[in-house]
Amino acid sequence: MSIAEKLARERRARLAAERLLEQKKRELFAANSQLSRHARHLSDQIVEQRHGLEQARCEAEALKGQNSQALSDLRRATNAAEIAERRLWEAVETIQDGFAIFDTSMHLVAANGAWFALFGGSQAVRTGMHYDAVVETLAAAGIVDLSGSDIHDWCHEMTARITQASVPPKMVRLTDGRHIRFIDRRGSDGDMVSMVLDITEATQREAELEEARARAEAANRAKSAFLANMSHEIRTPMNGVVGMAELLAETDLNEEQRLFAETIKSSGEALLTIINDVLDFSRIEAEKLKLFPEPFDLERCLHEVILLLQPSAQDKGVRLLVDFDIFPPTRFIGDPGRVRQILTNLLGNAVKFTSRGHVLARVVGLELADGRFDLHVTVEDTGIGIAPDQIDHIFGEFNQVEEQANRKFEGTGLGLAITRQLVELMGGTIWAESEPGQGSCFGFRVTFAPAEPLGVTDKPHRPILLKRALIVDDVQINRVILERQLQTYGLEVTMCRSAPEALQAVAAGHAFDVILTGHDMSGMAGPELVTALRAAGVAAPILLLSSLPDPAEATTGDIAAVLQKPILRSELFRILQDLSYPGATDDALTPVPAGPEASAGGRRQMRILAAEDNRTNQLVFCKMVADFDVDLQFAGNGREAVELWRSFRPDLVFMDISMPEMDGREAARTIRAIEAESGLTRTPIVAVTAHAVDGDGEAILAAGIDHHLTKPLKKAAIAAKINEFCPSNVRPATGQNQPADSVRGDD
Ligand code: ADP
Repeated sequence: MSIAEKLARERRARLAAERLLEQKKRELFAANSQLSRHARHLSDQIVEQRHGLEQARCEAEALKGQNSQALSDLRRATNAAEIAERRLWEAVETIQDGFAIFDTSMHLVAANGAWFALFGGSQAVRTGMHYDAVVETLAAAGIVDLSGSDIHDWCHEMTARITQASVPPKMVRLTDGRHIRFIDRRGSDGDMVSMVLDITEATQREAELEEARARAEAANRAKSAFLANMSHEIRTPMNGVVGMAELLAETDLNEEQRLFAETIKSSGEALLTIINDVLDFSRIEAEKLKLFPEPFDLERCLHEVILLLQPSAQDKGVRLLVDFDIFPPTRFIGDPGRVRQILTNLLGNAVKFTSRGHVLARVVGLELADGRFDLHVTVEDTGIGIAPDQIDHIFGEFNQVEEQANRKFEGTGLGLAITRQLVELMGGTIWAESEPGQGSCFGFRVTFAPAEPLGVTDKPHRPILLKRALIVDDVQINRVILERQLQTYGLEVTMCRSAPEALQAVAAGHAFDVILTGHDMSGMAGPELVTALRAAGVAAPILLLSSLPDPAEATTGDIAAVLQKPILRSELFRILQDLSYPGATDDALTPVPAGPEASAGGRRQMRILAAEDNRTNQLVFCKMVADFDVDLQFAGNGREAVELWRSFRPDLVFMDISMPEMDGREAARTIRAIEAESGLTRTPIVAVTAHAVDGDGEAILAAGIDHHLTKPLKKAAIAAKINEFCPSNVRPATGQNQPADSVRGDD
């Protein structure tokens, strides 16, 4: 190779080396610049990280402060929680009853010593144990007195009860004689708190109390039975004594003998009243007195009480008046026996403590929104009165006004206490107002439902056509009550205070369609006025209103009807109807008891069957109905009564309840069964009883008996029943003096 070529090659090599160098320089430069960028970036990062580090250090410092605060708070909280827990457990440990907590899955979380003690120190029961296992341990360890029941059944019962939403308490007897009660409650998070209470003492006390109560009840039953017996044993002979004394007093006696007879009668009656009061009171005390509501006629009930009191009131010259509100119905649902008792007590007291003037029973009714009636019954008298500070006192048991004027009257001081209890039992209230020397007013308020839908009973079937009425009575209250009644029937009323005044009115040319006159008026009596009116040419029908016990005795000719005061609203209404249609006959109308048609011939006697085993009482009954126009037959026991009822077909049965062989209830039930079977009309049966103790009323009604009379029987009460049930197709039973042989007995 030539030098030139070598030179050229070297030059090319050098050039290449220079280019390479150049390139390496550039690369170096680029690498340098990148390096310096990196270096800058790194130093930036370092600055930044240093800053971050500084910040983190500051934050760490702050956190350290916070942490120690939190730590101290936590320590305090833990401390407080520990104290609370310790206190709680100390409290829980202090209580004598077992206390345990189970978690949601029913594992024991904790329990106090009393709870563990239940297991007799058995180590088997530990926290963490399942409830079912606890129950099984309890049963298997013989701690529970299973009293013969199966161990599995018991465990099942115990575990099943805690699955209920509200766990029922469970009483368990232990074999050591203790009684415990499990009370369990679920918390809102599903845990269950279980308490085990030792109720041994309480159970023992309860058992003792129960035993004492049973003993007291047995004693009370014995007392009631004794009272029932005593009631029967005393009343039966007393019935004879009082009845015979009543009959004896009606015979021909000299003054002294009459006094003796009447004293026997009144003492006997007083004794019976006391027995009744004591019996009633003991029943109320034993909370045994029940009400037996049934449909009854309040006005009739009041009327009957008045009729019974009429003789004693009349003896003293005290007038008995009734003002029964004309707007409400008279039939209600209530316990007629108890209503009668209330009325008898209040009216009896009013008559007892009044020596002149009047006793007025007033009934006012207000219809309530629910259709029932708020009834206000007041009994007002013009008697001795009661001092204001004594008013509350007299409603208490055995309480009486302790004043000279008062204590000449007999009584037990139980009447008003019983009356108050009866009124309260009916949901009512009772009160009294009085002015000493002027009189008293006793009132009570009860709410009764009407017996029939309104308008059914009281609606006039036939309108009254009479227009003008004349009332003659010397008692103002009588005039006012009658006036109001007549005005509601659409009559125009003229009132006169005396017979001469009435005669003047007639002479002055006033004409009347009906005249109502009192009987026993001062100056000229009713019957005389009737004669005078007829003489003056008055043709209008005249009604004589009498307060005599037997108004028929007052009958003179030419009187349309004699009505016994107080007059029943329905009776007056029927008579005014009859007088409106003189020719008409209406069998549905109850005949006027002693009206002019009373002597109508051709009709048979009313048939009465009396079932009574006691001969003396048969005799008394026989004599008491001797004045009635009735055919009376006796049966000596229930079986005879049923047989006689079949053959005799009585219109009314008086049925003694206590009889040998078959008692009155049984006999009544048999009669009712035969009637139902044969489709016969129901014979009214009046129970006659000497008993006044528990259940009697209920049993009597259940036997199909309609009414109830208590011995000793009174002539007036028998008469009221005979009148009430005398059918319209037979001869009226009262008002005729019959020869004794028309009354047949079986002895
Ligand atoms: P009793 O009449 O048997 O004594 P009550 O309980 O019926 O018992 O009456 C208690 C007392 O209340 C009577 O004793 C009498 O003092 C007084 N009392 C009751 N009603 C009247 C009355 N209408 N007028 C005056 N005092 C009366």
